Amino acid sequence: MAVHDRDRAVVLGGSVAGLLAAIVLADSYRSVVVVERDTLPSHPDHRRGVPHGRHVHGFLPSGLRLVEELLPGFTAGAVARGALLGDILGNVRWYLNGSLLRQAVTGLTALSASRPLIETGIRDAVRRRANVTILDGHDIVGIGTTPDRRRVISARVTGSRGEGSRVLPADLVVDCSGRASRAPRWLADLGYAPPDEDVVGIDLSYATRVFAMPAGTFGDDLFVATTRFPGQRRSGIAQRLEGGRAMVTLAGVLGERPPADLESFTAYARTLAVPDTYEIVRAGTPLGGPDTFRCPTYVRRRFEQLADFPTGFLVLGDAVCAFNPVYGQGMTVAAATATALRDHLRAPAGPDPLSFFAAQSRLLDAPWALAAGADLALPGVTGPALPPSPLTSDYLARLQQAAVHDADLATAFIRVTSLVDPPAALLSEEVRARTGSPTVSSPLSGR
Ligand SMILES: Cc1cc2nc3c(=O)[nH]c(=O)nc-3n(C[C@H](O)[C@H](O)[C@H](O)COP(=O)(O)OP(=O)(O)OC[C@H]3O[C@@H](n4cnc5c(N)ncnc54)[C@H](O)[C@@H]3O)c2cc1C
Repeated sequence: MAVHDRDRAVVLGGSVAGLLAAIVLADSYRSVVVVERDTLPSHPDHRRGVPHGRHVHGFLPSGLRLVEELLPGFTAGAVARGALLGDILGNVRWYLNGSLLRQAVTGLTALSASRPLIETGIRDAVRRRANVTILDGHDIVGIGTTPDRRRVISARVTGSRGEGSRVLPADLVVDCSGRASRAPRWLADLGYAPPDEDVVGIDLSYATRVFAMPAGTFGDDLFVATTRFPGQRRSGIAQRLEGGRAMVTLAGVLGERPPADLESFTAYARTLAVPDTYEIVRAGTPLGGPDTFRCPTYVRRRFEQLADFPTGFLVLGDAVCAFNPVYGQGMTVAAATATALRDHLRAPAGPDPLSFFAAQSRLLDAPWALAAGADLALPGVTGPALPPSPLTSDYLARLQQAAVHDADLATAFIRVTSLVDPPAALLSEEVRARTGSPTVSSPLSGR
């Protein structure tokens, strides 16, 4: 039940993390203002501030469940707009190391839709909340504090239509402005230490094209995911979208650049471990031009390790941890973090930043270990050492190989990569026995 015992929260950034934070804040603050630089479209469309929306966006079942909890009716609304639902293993072809994981019904529902459709559904639900205002077309310029700099009390914004600059007073400012967040710089300007950063150097490139598809090309499947296999730097994902379309994202790491022009794009798709993506590209009719994306590094900012932090200020979403997008974790983690924020808003004096950051960090540990662990196993990828783990790449390779024939193992694996179960679930006695590893020797590095 809504409490509304505080005045105003201001959210910086009106993308997935900002919108989900706003919906949670709306239960505790009389008014919530979401500031967004873009002029937001009223229907599903691309926008400048979210260039990543032009590439495949898988929505993991746990993220979908959390968004449905936060915004009841979200899934039905998305389906009414053309989103497709299916089982995360029964309706997805997961080609790992060139072999298809055994397809089976897990009961975990995945949603397949373009990123603009997903974001529009969330935004519409947020707009229906009477005490939330979305101030679009406004650039966030900075934050304001009390004279002693111990508390953040406002955000300064400028309108893109010549409205000039103004100050929005706030009891709480929540930065959800994504990878380019200026929170570390603001902290430094205020005399606080900025967070340390864990940086993974992967040199990732995406090239994406959308196609009109003949009916039935995907069969009953929503996605075809072809991961890179040892020694190879290429992967691809084909996604069935609303409107009888398919989106195909081809990826390369460590300097491998998937080409964008149609002929070379098609030829690149043909070099993937299995021909499914190539066949989808060949069957489709190209719609519009290609889009590319480059991500030399991805970063986790360790706010939880800071000794001192102003009250009245939080940082969420990609502004804290921007994952390697191939693992499809960002929106799900944003939903989980918004849920954690709800718990921290119960504190009578408002959320304590450092205890919130500690909780957020615990949520980030598993997806970070999965993504960074898999990437750091590739020679040439640079990054911080991960805590020792018995989930070595050899063990996971054996597990994946066994999961090609074993539906229970495939389910156990997908539940972990979907962020439903913790990675430790893959070390249960049953999973180890099915993998042919009844005992796991002394902890080894995740690499
Ligand atoms: C190529 C790519 C593919 C991805 N694929 C997936 C996927 O398959 N599945 C998945 O779950 N996640 C995926 N992600 C991650 C996902 O998009 C993000 O985790 C998710 O959008 C949450 O991010 P965010 O809201 O924190 O930041 P963003 O989505 O980056 O949004 C930041 C918002 O802040 C606004 N903003 C920034 N600066 C200012 C300013 N100064 N003033 C006003 N507004 C400002 C921007 O306009 C934008 O709206 C992918 C990311 C990338 C880059």
